[in-house]
Amino acid sequence: MTRTGIYIHIPFCESRCSYCDFFSTVPKAAEIKTAYGAQVVAVLKKELATVRAEEIVSLYIGGGTPSTMPGRFFTAVGRALTAAGIDTKKIEFTVEANPADITAPFLRTLKKCGVNRLSLGTQSADDAVLKAMGRRASREMLAKVLPLARKEFDNISYDIIYGFGKRPRDLAAELGWLFELAVPDHVSTYCYTRPERRKVPPVAREERIETEEEAIHRFLAASRFTRYEVSNWARRGFESVHNRLYWSWDRYIGIGAGAHGFTPADGVRYHYPESVMAFIKDPVPVVERSPRDVKMREFVMMGLRTKEGIRRTQFKKLFGVDIAALMSVVTRERFIDAGYATLTKRRLAATVRGFDLLNSFIGALFDDIERYARGHER
Ligand code: SF4
Repeated sequence: MTRTGIYIHIPFCESRCSYCDFFSTVPKAAEIKTAYGAQVVAVLKKELATVRAEEIVSLYIGGGTPSTMPGRFFTAVGRALTAAGIDTKKIEFTVEANPADITAPFLRTLKKCGVNRLSLGTQSADDAVLKAMGRRASREMLAKVLPLARKEFDNISYDIIYGFGKRPRDLAAELGWLFELAVPDHVSTYCYTRPERRKVPPVAREERIETEEEAIHRFLAASRFTRYEVSNWARRGFESVHNRLYWSWDRYIGIGAGAHGFTPADGVRYHYPESVMAFIKDPVPVVERSPRDVKMREFVMMGLRTKEGIRRTQFKKLFGVDIAALMSVVTRERFIDAGYATLTKRRLAATVRGFDLLNSFIGALFDDIERYARGHER
């Protein structure tokens, strides 16, 4: 059985946030959303016909802002799943929502369609920061909708962005306030990176990024959350099923403009072009075939993000070599002997301390992979 997730991309937003680099547009006419939603559901049905119902473990509707889609879209998605024999109670079914779109009827519609996890784009609890980010929600709004979301859903996640703008922030106080309103089950943290365009808010200085990151980590650890992935924290049992598929080299089907998919059996990735109209007219994905060393790097980069790290047997099965055998002495000394990573019979993983040096560790392994690939070209 191939554990499979489905990702649906909704590339629509009500307005553009100042920090955002995702593919999304502000549609001028409601008909565009209707036509796009219909095409998504048509492709979803086709994809569902190619898999066994019991293989589907998650469906994630992300964006953009999925919560700007009409209720009938979610109803159609829920019906497509049921018609394919999928019991939505048995899968993780997530919808990303902007707190500004949340109302009691909207939450009830989602629940009725089988949605069982809500990922909320909270980002900050400071009105000045929210304004500078161009977010539609305010503290007043968050105070109203977060308890509502908590009441309706057994699994909710908050997004938090740090390292944003010039002004120092008290992240512990922001999180404390959000948790007082409603304690989530999962928190995703993102360090702001400057989008490649003019007139974007500044990135915080390195020391401030570190202070904010530490404040977040201390708060979440004290709230009994576990850092199960470099940017993701969860209460026990609430780790994201869908995100884990990306990190553990499992299968995911991408649907929608800009959506990506992956088949582990042949290591083939594909994506739909970032064009709403192209997806509506003729949804044809672009297939990407990568050489073995590129796949090795992808596997390492994704797997090491999690606290469990990489399974050595899986790496060997996929690429025909033990990751320990291609690791240089220098990499071992710098990261394993120094306590930033552990290498056991079964796994290679970053330690909690090693998460802070993860990019350097991955970079060193990339060099080792390149050296190995050069030596095995002929
Ligand atoms: S709502 Fe999300 S996707 Fe849309 S502009 Fe803001 S950050 Fe980007």
